[in-house]
Amino acid sequence: MKKTESKYIIIGAGISGLTTAYQLLKEGEHNFLILEGRDRIGGRVLTKNDIDFGPAWFQPSHKNLLQLLNDLDIEKFNQYSIGKNVLVYNTMAPAHYFESDQSQPSAYRVAGGSIQLIKKMASLLKDKIVLNTKVSKITEIENEIEVLTDNGLFSAEKAIITLPPKLAITLKYTPELPFELNNVMKNTHTWMSNAIKVGMNYESPFWRKKGFSGTIIGQVGPVVELYDHTNADETTYSLMGFVNEGLRDVAAQERKERILVYLEKYLGKQVRHYLSYDEKDWSKDPYTSCSNLKSVYMSPKYGNPVFDMLYMNGKLLFSGTETSPYFGGYIEGAVISGILTANKIKA
Ligand SMILES: Cc1cc2nc3c(=O)[nH]c(=O)nc-3n(C[C@H](O)[C@H](O)[C@H](O)COP(=O)(O)OP(=O)(O)OC[C@H]3O[C@@H](n4cnc5c(N)ncnc54)[C@H](O)[C@@H]3O)c2cc1C
Repeated sequence: MKKTESKYIIIGAGISGLTTAYQLLKEGEHNFLILEGRDRIGGRVLTKNDIDFGPAWFQPSHKNLLQLLNDLDIEKFNQYSIGKNVLVYNTMAPAHYFESDQSQPSAYRVAGGSIQLIKKMASLLKDKIVLNTKVSKITEIENEIEVLTDNGLFSAEKAIITLPPKLAITLKYTPELPFELNNVMKNTHTWMSNAIKVGMNYESPFWRKKGFSGTIIGQVGPVVELYDHTNADETTYSLMGFVNEGLRDVAAQERKERILVYLEKYLGKQVRHYLSYDEKDWSKDPYTSCSNLKSVYMSPKYGNPVFDMLYMNGKLLFSGTETSPYFGGYIEGAVISGILTANKIKA
């Protein structure tokens, strides 16, 4: 079988993998490839019709992400929060209405959608990203590491796995990985892999005109959180939110109807006059989620020290937001892990 060789192989073209590649490139290293199983880049970052179906928000404390956005010349803006928010906390009582304190800045969003971060990094890495290349096996052979995929065989001096740990453990490793690492990977929940998002575009922000912010919060309805998701230029008017996981296995048409009935109750019948309506259930995406889905009632702990170590005699590294010692789960964690890994691989 023909073997494609490079100095480094990065597995996964999500934020973490692309950040490592971007760091390597900045330091003059060009001899690497990024292997991606999907037919698209971005991993958990997914923007469709200007709506972020993956990550949407970040905070002033996310310093590495802010630095990266600055480096890449990408603008940010604040989440819209003017007007009445709706809190639905009890099926027996009327909803509670409240306004956000405008002196407190709301979360940031990326202008043009979170995908801008991916697109900008990828534009510098064009010939290095190989799509539709699902990795299945990692083998240590003397001075190199071999990576078997459904699109050929690759080899490198070192390889980085950026898959969520629960997916990384499904690859075959020769020699086998240490028991402790396997055990941690098996028990590391993939952040947001349970989430179902819904997003709609409209001709105008009708909710704003009625004095609503677009925020509706409450665990008792079909949508547990909804927000205004209008773009930075205010040319696409959108609502986006998280669907109640209890509706995961309900037929698509029924779920949609229950969502619309609920939102109509608080925002009016214009809710039904959408230009686009989309949902994304991440638990059904095999490149993010795995079959043993578990709801999470406690924030998982990320950044286990086993991920800081090198394996296969220094040839195999693990990266990705779940491995980050700080802000694990968030975009910031993915960026931190990407930077740390770029430093480690050269050592
Ligand atoms: C619905 C949702 C909402 C979120 N909201 C926020 C938010 O508001 N703010 C925030 O900071 N974070 C949020 N997050 C988390 C954020 O998206 C992640 O922290 C970040 O995108 C993780 O990046 P990563 O590179 O570590 O992993 P991933 O993006 O998962 O990248 C891993 C890559 O590996 C690829 N891959 C998988 N298996 C294989 C294989 N066998 N072979 C080759 N490639 C493979 C995948 O396709 C993927 O591209 C959200 C996530 C989701 C899903």
